[in-house]
Amino acid sequence: MSREKILSNTPPADDDDPSLRPSKLAEMVGQRDVIARLQIAIQAAQQREDVLGHILFDGPPGLGKTTFAHCIPAELGVPVEFLSGPSLKAPKDLVPSLTNLRPKQVLFIDEIHRIPKSVEEYMYTAMEDFRIDMILGEGINARTHNFKLRPFTLIGATTRAGMLTGPLRDRFQIREHLDFYTLDDLTEIVRRNATKLKVEITDDAAVEVAARSRSTPRVANNRLRWVRDFAQSKAAGKITLEVAQGALQMAEIDALGLDRQDRRYLDTLIRVCFGGPTGIGTIAATMNTVTDTLADEVEPFLLRSELILRTPRGRIATPKAFAHMNHEPPANHPTGMFD
Ligand code: ADP
Repeated sequence: MSREKILSNTPPADDDDPSLRPSKLAEMVGQRDVIARLQIAIQAAQQREDVLGHILFDGPPGLGKTTFAHCIPAELGVPVEFLSGPSLKAPKDLVPSLTNLRPKQVLFIDEIHRIPKSVEEYMYTAMEDFRIDMILGEGINARTHNFKLRPFTLIGATTRAGMLTGPLRDRFQIREHLDFYTLDDLTEIVRRNATKLKVEITDDAAVEVAARSRSTPRVANNRLRWVRDFAQSKAAGKITLEVAQGALQMAEIDALGLDRQDRRYLDTLIRVCFGGPTGIGTIAATMNTVTDTLADEVEPFLLRSELILRTPRGRIATPKAFAHMNHEPPANHPTGMFD
């Protein structure tokens, strides 16, 4: 892939619909405090004709980290190159991006917590002094050359801020944590994106789709696309409350936004394991899946929704989970016995 192509391209391995992604900060919904702080930093950098400081975004998937990495360079009027942490296996994978930087360009590194130590250490001088040390030649002819870089802005994104080392974290002048979206903000995203998808949606249907979208814009977009398809094939293209409910029911997404896998987890914990406490390995084995899938993809939302507790003795279903699954808790159920 040519460099021109990379610079103008959307990020790789991103299955989001680019047409739904806001391209300016003003088009982004929610995250108001974050946007306000970024706008001040951008304006100040522009007034000083200086490069914008490095920015680190952390937060769960689908909340807008990559979207910010699209919008910020657009505000600055500079190009952006998208890199992914796991693809940077050695310093040589990063060097071409650094040496070919355009003035004040943005470099975006997704999943930055996954870059190896050797690459991380290489980035320290690049971020701090805009220079890198390159060893040219081999054996006794090897020489270290100091290569000056054009000033640039690094935007890092991570779902695991805790896995970043202190020295790397400290080199970001701006650090922003992205929170889950309110129902109002998510409803607004659904409404706007329905317009972008050229499909009519009633207000109550937009609320319904948003309410089942786990407070996450990427999930809302996926639900909306499915509801749009359903409306097109079964309801003359218009999304009413009834159509939205029918579509989501068919996709097995319930009123809390749980999908089939989430409910299988709860069913295993509640019906098979009497509500716990049960080790995640036991739950995974009963569900015929692996613990990583449960820990990464299923449990975060169940924990956030207060449907399960993670205790030293294992997972426990909460009274809310029993109620949601229409099950009576056993008399000796231990919920509430843990701090
Ligand atoms: P992340 O990089 O955090 O995983 P993305 O930035 O890729 O998440 O967001 C996923 C999708 O959600 C985007 O394509 C965009 O359509 C939508 N989205 C995210 N944040 C916002 C926002 N603040 N306003 C409107 N849409 C958003």
